[in-house]
Amino acid sequence: MAVSHSQLKEALDALKETGVRITPQRHAILEYLINAMTHPTADDIYKALEGKFPNMSVATVYNNLRVFREVGLVKELTYGDSSSRFDFVTTDHYHVICQNCNKIVDFHYPGLDEVEHLASHVAGFKVHSHRLEVYGTCAECSAKEAH
Ligand SMILES: [Zn+2]
Ligand SMILES: [Zn+2]
Repeated sequence: MAVSHSQLKEALDALKETGVRITPQRHAILEYLINAMTHPTADDIYKALEGKFPNMSVATVYNNLRVFREVGLVKELTYGDSSSRFDFVTTDHYHVICQNCNKIVDFHYPGLDEVEHLASHVAGFKVHSHRLEVYGTCAECSAKEAH
């Protein structure tokens, strides 16, 4: 997987603008997130980078992710009691989730503005956002089940 240099550069510029110091760890975490298509947990990121940063802890990774989230670079996906997963914010997209291995895959679909408008109209809410997830069994898990 090639690093998307422009995405990384834009993210680093956004951090600079908000006055967030760019440490080597933050740089590495961002780079990992941009490349990862897997929506990693803080623990996944920690495991991937601990060789490079022996003094880094899971808590450090999590704190950095929180900084990124506050700046709006990263979305935190919480799923009940399981640990949060992190998604580098690009364009709006939806998720399809494997109920067997918990893999999350992105898919693009036009934003469901109509649903927001209807909800707003019916309930009299000022709507800010919505969340849509599709659940099923991924191709790999289906293949395993078939054998
Ligand atoms: Zn699966
Ligand atoms: Zn995603």
